Amino acid sequence: MNFVLHGSSVSSGITIGRAHLVSSARLEVAHYEIPASAVPGEIFRFDAAIVRAKQELAQLEHQIPSDAPAEFGAFLQLHRMILDDSSLSHAPRDIIRAQRCNAEWALVQQMETLGEQFERIEDPYLRERSADMQQVVERVLKALIGDKAQPEPPRAEEHKLIVVAHDLSPADMLLFKRHEYGGFVTDVGGVTSHTAILARSLNIPALVGLHHARHMIREGEMLVVDGIQGVLVVNPDPLVLAEYRLRQSQHELERKKLGRLKSTPAATLDGTAIELLANIELPQDLEQVHDAGAEGIGLFRTEFLFMNRRDQPGEDEQFEAYREVARRMRAKPVVIRTLDIGADKALDGHVESMPNPALGLRAIRYCLSEPHVFLVQLRAILRASHHGQVRILLPMVAHVHEVDQALAFVRQAKGQLDARGVPYDPRVQVGGMIEIPAAALALPMFMKRLDFLSLGTNDLIQYTLAIDRTDDAVAHLYDPLHPAVLQLVAHVIHAANRGRTPIAVCGEMAGELALTRLLLGFGLRSFSMHPAQLLAVKERVLRTELAAVQGAAQKILRSSDPAKTRELLARLNA
Ligand code: PEP
Ligand code: MG
Repeated sequence: MNFVLHGSSVSSGITIGRAHLVSSARLEVAHYEIPASAVPGEIFRFDAAIVRAKQELAQLEHQIPSDAPAEFGAFLQLHRMILDDSSLSHAPRDIIRAQRCNAEWALVQQMETLGEQFERIEDPYLRERSADMQQVVERVLKALIGDKAQPEPPRAEEHKLIVVAHDLSPADMLLFKRHEYGGFVTDVGGVTSHTAILARSLNIPALVGLHHARHMIREGEMLVVDGIQGVLVVNPDPLVLAEYRLRQSQHELERKKLGRLKSTPAATLDGTAIELLANIELPQDLEQVHDAGAEGIGLFRTEFLFMNRRDQPGEDEQFEAYREVARRMRAKPVVIRTLDIGADKALDGHVESMPNPALGLRAIRYCLSEPHVFLVQLRAILRASHHGQVRILLPMVAHVHEVDQALAFVRQAKGQLDARGVPYDPRVQVGGMIEIPAAALALPMFMKRLDFLSLGTNDLIQYTLAIDRTDDAVAHLYDPLHPAVLQLVAHVIHAANRGRTPIAVCGEMAGELALTRLLLGFGLRSFSMHPAQLLAVKERVLRTELAAVQGAAQKILRSSDPAKTRELLARLNA
């Protein structure tokens, strides 16, 4: 059967390939009732999965390489102990009996009950063992549903495959960076969720918010991902396929043409230089940054160094990652954002269970509550500042005391390095992200204390319009052109320019081609975006007359009618 699904494009281009269904065990658990007669069989399935998980752990313990860190063995032992505990190996049997439900569901329910108990534990070390318990549960779940799992495709074939998933966390997405899939689609997710941002950094056509793709598509079915129109075509007929192949080659040709602009300085028609910087998540993204000819790194989202691991990277490990970026960028600026963990970017099981994580202990709030973690990172960044043009960026500032405390920690970290005789740039600049409306509205108090500002439009829109970036049920309300958003963005750019505080935009608006001229018209001269968007934005800059867009931008700002705003914007981009 052929059909079409509509979603939101997070990465442009067209890709044609076969579906590869990917599950995250926890998210894919089905819930169904079973007849009383099936209860013993279901308990048998559960017991067999426990046995299989134990065998896997024993085998892993057996195969520990001699040079593996000592904690590895301890970690496996801990998982074996958790698995032996009756709260996991027996309690789900009672749930199967009492609720007549499938084994997977019983296990997930028990995991949630245990998770709540862990939450109430005061001791932070013990509380963190909740993540271990979840990992053990996932191992048992995989054993339960293992027969249905798809085998890993061979690497050489990956580019012909399109990953189809219900939902994936940013940490799951990070693992995809090791693969070379042809495209990527998910049922849920907003276009500026961190999962989507990571999907974009894979530089392959990607769609989110397809709702039922994971259930409607079968492994191996032919798919076309149209990241230009936000459409997924399943089992296209030959005519449609031929049309898409044509469009695909046209799109690739256009991309190649853009490649010629790599070394062209970005300037408007009247000769005003515009700074085009890149956003990265890991040092490995630098290749794309160089291919795009970026003038520096405007946002290094360091939290991705902290994901998919049980421990936190220490000072030396972080230093090496930051130094690699600083060195490879040579004299170009590298803005390193301090840990923005929380909300949808959870450290393995750490902060994700807060009542409202986007409004909770996130970013600078988390760092100020964990001085040790913060100081380790600040020392690592400061040490890297000796090797390049490094700047420090504080995420999600809303209060002056947060900035003052963070600056005090920077001084403390410098003092610690002085005591150790370790070099760093004593004049390293410290900036702040303006991504909470309160900060945008009270800008002078931040400008007084900080060397530069960076406008995080993803969160600014989330917090201004009160919509969760990750929630696809409200994704249609996520509107960068909302008058309130435009007022805030224009105000911040104008106020920073007037106060001579350097300002960049590093949220997704900076890489949105339709908004380039509008932002230039507001007075923005520094844009930071995913490297894949950079050359298209440069081309737009090269074709823009500043004097012409300034008046149009002011008109758009004054418009209170959304239809009119869109019409004026279309005219600006014509
Ligand atoms: C933003 O909020 O716009 C931003 C750049 O930060 P992040 O997307 O990592 O929250
Ligand atoms: Mg943000």
